[in-house]
Amino acid sequence: MATGKLKDDCIFCKIIKGEIPSTKVYEDDYVFSFRDINPQAPTHILVVPKTHIRSCAEIDEANAEYVSHIFTAIAKIAKSEGLDKGFRVISNAGKDAGQTVDHLHFHILAGVKMGEGLL
Ligand code: AMP
Ligand code: ZN
Repeated sequence: MATGKLKDDCIFCKIIKGEIPSTKVYEDDYVFSFRDINPQAPTHILVVPKTHIRSCAEIDEANAEYVSHIFTAIAKIAKSEGLDKGFRVISNAGKDAGQTVDHLHFHILAGVKMGEGLL
């Protein structure tokens, strides 16, 4: 079992523990994935590590295994959700980026033609 340290006062840690309900999309030993409660696109899925990492700014050699599993999970989710027309992956880190939940997460957005603005 690869679940790492979870924080009592973190909303995504609570979702991983099942203390807050979510619409689960995918789960393995390292990764939990669920639908965003306030979708910004027809498909809006969050993928989070099963350990409390604050953001991309806290990824290091010790926790990188979780992050590599996140990306293999994203590819699996893209297949299972039929996102063959494309999708966008975003991770906000810190205040200026608009991060509102301090547990590393990757947004998968799809189902609408996205412009080239910002990215
Ligand atoms: P960010 O603004 O990048 O930190 O993204 C946080 C995301 O978490 C937002 O898109 C929220 O809609 C989403 N969110 C917050 N609480 C929940 C929840 N209980 N279940 C699902 N998504 C949530
Ligand atoms: Zn957490």
